[in-house]
Amino acid sequence: MEFDTIVAISTPIGEGAIGIIRMSGPESFQILDRVFKKIGNGTFEDKQMVYGQIMDEDTIVDEVLAVKMYKPRTYTKEDVVEINCHGGLVPMRSILSLLLDKGARLAEKGEFTKRAFLNGRIDLAQAESVMDLIGSKTKRGYDLAMNQLEGHLSRRVRGMRDGLMTLMGHIEVGIDYPEEDIEDVTYPEIVDQLEDLEKQIDKLLKSANNGKIIREGLKTVIVGKPNVGKSSLMNALLKDSRAIVTDVPGTTRDVIEEYMNVGGIPIKLIDTAGIRSTEDVVEKIGVEKSKSYFNEADLIIFVLNASEPLTDEDLDIMEHVKNKHAIVIINKTDLEIRIDESLINMHLNDKLILKTSMEKEIGIDLVEKAISDILLDHDLEINQNETVSNTRHIHLLKTAHQNVKDALGAANSKMPYDFIEVDIQNAIVNLGQITGESVENDLLDHIFSNFCIGK
Ligand code: GDP
Ligand code: ZN
Repeated sequence: MEFDTIVAISTPIGEGAIGIIRMSGPESFQILDRVFKKIGNGTFEDKQMVYGQIMDEDTIVDEVLAVKMYKPRTYTKEDVVEINCHGGLVPMRSILSLLLDKGARLAEKGEFTKRAFLNGRIDLAQAESVMDLIGSKTKRGYDLAMNQLEGHLSRRVRGMRDGLMTLMGHIEVGIDYPEEDIEDVTYPEIVDQLEDLEKQIDKLLKSANNGKIIREGLKTVIVGKPNVGKSSLMNALLKDSRAIVTDVPGTTRDVIEEYMNVGGIPIKLIDTAGIRSTEDVVEKIGVEKSKSYFNEADLIIFVLNASEPLTDEDLDIMEHVKNKHAIVIINKTDLEIRIDESLINMHLNDKLILKTSMEKEIGIDLVEKAISDILLDHDLEINQNETVSNTRHIHLLKTAHQNVKDALGAANSKMPYDFIEVDIQNAIVNLGQITGESVENDLLDHIFSNFCIGK
């Protein structure tokens, strides 16, 4: 496949010592030659930095280091040019627009990585891991993405898909020559192989939950009615971690999200406006939003005010908390206690109940410990080679899992071969979508549009 030549700024926009502009495609070397004036005696051998100036006619635009990378051993498998220039917005923009004038086209989001995929250097799961790498929040998340980039997940998925295709081939033989004396697969054999594949997919899926948490964080939602100390708790938890919180009055109407880091696992803390019903339209938006967060949470921290008797609102939230993974916090214990603890114990008897005072900084360590214990419960040891973390992959695996189970059902009840084949075919297609063997163009556009420019 032959593409045009694309260009983009590949480093984050802003003040930086250097910025990198990247170009890829058949004309990238010529386009560079049109604007580059060498200083000294460097030569453009493969991957050699050459010092020089970017010229717009007779005007010097910037002093740069440029490098040509010859296909096919490049990121995109095309000729690639990188220009290291001064990092400010002005030099980078000037060089970029000059290259556009000279024949390059501005790259779309993720287009470099998309080319790497389309030119066959990486598969789709690997391309997506590039995006995960950029977005990874902790070292472990990074390791996981790196692992996927190296192709461990792809190899496993491809192995399962190959298994299904081989099985399919055997069944076809049986269909095409039913009366001949070819050793066609018998039902017990089909069942055997399908059971094996079903187990493999199942095992991979079991790793999915952990992978998702390592990648996206344990979603922890802090709930409670206004003024009980939710934001204070969030601030206290973040103080030891990476904190940037401003709680101007009213901000907790909406939802505030921050990450803290517990043993390399990101904990996504979400401070909500509480989940009470309200007539106030503005507040309602926050409330509706926090309800949806509440339902998706991996963990809920329910905060109560020790210095007030329980209200209907507290009881209402309590009902919602009952069947969730939750920690209960009785805050403001530095004040006179007016809350009915026995009632809380009765309603939430299986939950861990902690007493804190954010004001006096008491009990914050207990909350931290409770969160990390819950993480340990989740048993987040990642099995390096067998973790699936991407939501799209998980969904496809689940569907393929169902397809295989359907095929198994059909084989077990000795349905005609073509019934079994339909389900196996579906499983093959679904697994193929993970690595990109069978994937639609608009899905590709969708996936790559989540990248940032320059990747
Ligand atoms: P939120 O509305 O639930 O987010 O509550 P905030 O964290 O904004 O706290 C509401 C008010 O209670 C603030 O004035 C806090 O300083 C105060 N507060 C928070 N925790 C405590 C505590 O443990 N003891 C006392 N006495 N005041 C607290
Ligand atoms: Zn608040």
